[in-house]
Amino acid sequence: MKKLIIRKTEEIENWRRNIKSDINFIPTMGNLHDGHRKLISTAKNDNSNLNLVSIFVNPLQFDNKSDLENYPKTVDNDIKTSFANGADAIFIPSTKDIFPPNNKNIKFLKAPLELSSVLCGLNRVGHFDGVCTVVYRLLDLIKPKNLYLGEKDWQQLLILKDLVLTKKLKISIKSIPTQRDYDGIPLSSRNVHLSKNQRKLIRFFSNELLVAKINFQQEKKVSVKKIIQKMSAEKISIEYFEHLHPYTLQKASDEDNISILAGAIKCGETRLIDHVFLMKRSPIIAIDGPAGSGKSTVTKLIAKKLKLLYLDTGAMYRALSWLLIKENIDYKIVKDLQHFLKDISIKFKSNANSQQDVLINNYCVTEEIRSQKISSIVSKISSINEVRKFLVEEQRKIGKSGGLVAEGRDIGTTVFPDAELKIFLTASIDERAKRRKFDKKSKDSRDIDLHQLKELIKKRDFEDSTREISPLIKANDAIEIITDGYSINEVVEKIITFYNDKIPKEIQIQ
Ligand code: AMP
Repeated sequence: MKKLIIRKTEEIENWRRNIKSDINFIPTMGNLHDGHRKLISTAKNDNSNLNLVSIFVNPLQFDNKSDLENYPKTVDNDIKTSFANGADAIFIPSTKDIFPPNNKNIKFLKAPLELSSVLCGLNRVGHFDGVCTVVYRLLDLIKPKNLYLGEKDWQQLLILKDLVLTKKLKISIKSIPTQRDYDGIPLSSRNVHLSKNQRKLIRFFSNELLVAKINFQQEKKVSVKKIIQKMSAEKISIEYFEHLHPYTLQKASDEDNISILAGAIKCGETRLIDHVFLMKRSPIIAIDGPAGSGKSTVTKLIAKKLKLLYLDTGAMYRALSWLLIKENIDYKIVKDLQHFLKDISIKFKSNANSQQDVLINNYCVTEEIRSQKISSIVSKISSINEVRKFLVEEQRKIGKSGGLVAEGRDIGTTVFPDAELKIFLTASIDERAKRRKFDKKSKDSRDIDLHQLKELIKKRDFEDSTREISPLIKANDAIEIITDGYSINEVVEKIITFYNDKIPKEIQIQ
């Protein structure tokens, strides 16, 4: 396809109407660097949509006239860079094209106050209103399927996510982590203005953030006050330096597993921003739901796609049942059971087939625990109080550093109530009965008719959701997905989209 440079709004609307593909849109203000390159090439590699890069220095988001006038402009180079990195078309409108005088159809938007009155919005009055106005105008002209943004501008990303949500636009926002230069400072079009000495100062600032991130990971305290003092001693002019909740941008609390440490400094006339995410542990996805909702298949695929550990809690209950039988323990005698549980260790290990093995006291029991004998007893054993308590603790131990997806009945409510993403996967009784009936692997359903299966499922649901210990209930903050009519892959994609929407790319396992 011919590479296009489009300058007029009518042309862009014509182009959009005539193409058959969906659009990935990558808005920029030009003077493209490796951060922009990564954004364009990520869009290119994501799918087969057409990639449209825009270059437009938005006057509405500048509160300072000289900053606008001095904003570096390198259009010829930007065109080459965009095409070389996967752009199919470039939109370079003039201010008059985007904001024609006297055009009453242009909507001047206000960014939500909670998100826009802090950090960069504190001193730059109207900045985010300007960002929202121009991005909304561009989205309206281009109508992309995907919008690609950098996490370097984290606050802007949150505000634009809110815009897409409140305007009910059918657009997915995809983000990339902050791209940094060789010396660790974030790439920015404004870096060209920095003198050698100013660059040293921003390096100091970015390094302080990085050290804070490492200290926090090692469970050391991070003191915002001390960092500010250190930077002030270097004569760094700080506009703000804050430790906040990453999504609400309100003050961080000790309970937050993920928070953001963000700052802006001024080097001469140049203003630069940087941030890091502080994390107690890597993110966790909790998937709960009734039997037959497709949890384990979905969870395994998610683990593979997102490179997370698959915490197969069902396998843990099965492994424990296996050992109880093997060692002939009378689990009804509480004392014997308690004694037995003292010396149990359960581990997961990747095997040569890229699958996961389950080991109990170093026996590999992956195959054995799938036997009919174990299936018939596991439910009984897992309803014993001691067993549940023991395994919930073991699951929490495995989850201490996070980076996993777990499925079960009580993951989001009891095991990991602070999981970053909670899903409640369910399906109608009709659908689950049909799935069991036509599942070739399910021996028990072969001889049972559909009506009986439905009754069995209803009974199991009732028992699961009314039992005393860890009943099956949807956590308040869980997202319910009813899987009737969806393929496994569609469900997996839905959950991955929720994950990507919520968890910064910066802290996802790459
Ligand atoms: P700008 O040209 O500065 O308006 O940026 C255009 C897009 O590129 C925005 O979505 C930015 O967040 C993103 N971007 C700019 N610099 C970086 C960087 N260093 N790393 C990642 N994304 C960036």
